[in-house]
Amino acid sequence: MSVPGPSDPTAALETLRRVFGYDAFRGFQAEVIEHVVAGGDALVLMPTGGGKSLCYQIPALVRDGVAVVISPLIALMQDQVDALRAVGVRAGFLNSTLDPDTRRLVEAEFVAGEIDLLYLAPEALASRGTLSLLDRGRIALFAIDEAHCVSQWGHDFRPDYLTLSMLPERWPDVPRIALTATATSATRTEIATRLQLTGARHFVASFDRPNIQYRIVPKREPRKQLLSLLRDEHPGDAGIVYCLSRASVDKTAEFLVANGIAALPYHAGLDAATRARNQQRFLREDGLVMVATIAFGMGIDKPDVRFVAHLDLPKSVEGYYQETGRAGRDGLPSTAWLAYGLQDVVQQRKMIDSSEGDLAHRRNLAAHLDAMLALCETVRCRRAQLLEYFGEPATGGCGNCDTCLEPPESWDGTVPAQKLLSTVYRLDRERNQRFGAGHCIDILLGKQNDKVSQFRHDQLTVFGIGTDLREAEWRGVVRQLLAEGLLTVEGDYGTLALTDASAEVLGRRRTVMLRREPERPARSAAKPRGAATVVAELPAEAAPLFERLRAWRAATAKEQGVPAYVIFHDATLRQIAADAPASLAELSRISGVGENKLAKYGEPILAVLANPDTPA
Ligand code: ADP
Ligand code: ZN
Repeated sequence: MSVPGPSDPTAALETLRRVFGYDAFRGFQAEVIEHVVAGGDALVLMPTGGGKSLCYQIPALVRDGVAVVISPLIALMQDQVDALRAVGVRAGFLNSTLDPDTRRLVEAEFVAGEIDLLYLAPEALASRGTLSLLDRGRIALFAIDEAHCVSQWGHDFRPDYLTLSMLPERWPDVPRIALTATATSATRTEIATRLQLTGARHFVASFDRPNIQYRIVPKREPRKQLLSLLRDEHPGDAGIVYCLSRASVDKTAEFLVANGIAALPYHAGLDAATRARNQQRFLREDGLVMVATIAFGMGIDKPDVRFVAHLDLPKSVEGYYQETGRAGRDGLPSTAWLAYGLQDVVQQRKMIDSSEGDLAHRRNLAAHLDAMLALCETVRCRRAQLLEYFGEPATGGCGNCDTCLEPPESWDGTVPAQKLLSTVYRLDRERNQRFGAGHCIDILLGKQNDKVSQFRHDQLTVFGIGTDLREAEWRGVVRQLLAEGLLTVEGDYGTLALTDASAEVLGRRRTVMLRREPERPARSAAKPRGAATVVAELPAEAAPLFERLRAWRAATAKEQGVPAYVIFHDATLRQIAADAPASLAELSRISGVGENKLAKYGEPILAVLANPDTPA
């Protein structure tokens, strides 16, 4: 492919338009690209969906030689390369899955400079064979994707990333660009140090994802709540449901399938072939729901994941943000939904208490959990709280989270808190017995049951003093006191116990403000206001056309054996449906329709538009 030389400042923009079919750069893409094209090193931090790939793909096309891209996920290299080939970019990969003939072919293409990008796994750089291969070609730049994998304290640590520190010694003149969506400044410093990128220019984007609507709801019947979310708001949409345990992944997937939702399980207990097959199907087919443990998701760059639902409380805000960030990479409105309840708090505190590791380690886990609980219980804007957590000052409410859309009421819960704490205090004196939250609430509500009569708890002065609140409200009180550290759980059975801070409440030295438990779960039929600014709504009359285009895309993707989004993204199909272009020239002006895709799919698209009888 002939491109203007790197000295031409318009080369990058021209490439963006012609090859990728986009009008303009986003955020600081243009600055990063200019810097790398000129030979500078860069460390790029952008949220998922921010558009990191173009930051190295365009320099790869503009600079002489082949860009070497280090990517940790062998299973996804084929898709990455397919997506580039679909826009007419010459790319290849080398990893252990290739047969010897294909390998030789790709190696020859690299040496001859017949490709523009070569994807490699980090472990490849430890092999002499690969190093000498690299010496035989001309390298345009090194791109280090998912650069946080070099962080030893992060959850995605890959020891092979440490070897990447040798790149500047061996290839001092080749620019390097490291990219990650992991936000904290500690990770950023660690990446710069370990990759010898201390002299690199840092580009740090805002981590806000305005098209994602954040919602955290009280957990009642989680699977049913999930089902109504999917039916009411996301029918036919692709999404991810995260569960803590393998067993609940399996059960939830079965439940969804039994209720007519196309869902697949994914967890480390499944054999590798099933896992790979389910992941492939999720990427390739439209509208599948993946029910998974957090083992699933890194590097999944499916742009049209419309929702991420958590049925269990994540262990940290970092994890939560990374997982929810997999929704809406294409910028279209998406939902991040979490159901959270008392049992989550009890369970996680127990897990921390019984975890291996020293006190410092347990404290670290507890601090992460506390930050997550604070996010769940806040009456402020969720987005503002998230961004502040990552060190970004937030301004006012976002208008696209549950607390902004339906501001929760807070109320003075000091008296109920005292009633609950007194009950715990009285039970605490029966040292060798174990009483969890359920039993305390039964006592407060004055419920007669076997356990109450066995221990004669109907004789306690607190028996029946809490009938002014409903059971769900009492569970809310317990949960919030646990979240605030005014109450704790002990032992294997989740026995409630007082903390030092409890005394302040019992001694009337502290008021307790609580978030009101909604009578019924808030149905968020509310239109995501913030998201409307990201992309135009599809006009109602264009919806049937969009569905026909989707059907055409599904058939084409199947025929070519590539994911549907490699053909066209949803955003592009929507625009085509809305504008209904009448000619190739009009079609070429739509964002996401580059030269190659116009040549390949232009006529078939116009045929779908012209013929309303095309089967959908
Ligand atoms: P990241 O790797 O940062 O998560 P991607 O590189 O996958 O993000 O980009 C996210 C989405 O945004 C992709 O669908 C990509 O095609 C699109 N995109 C990136 N840059 C632009 C741009 N300048 N104009 C329009 N779309 C863009
Ligand atoms: Zn908000």
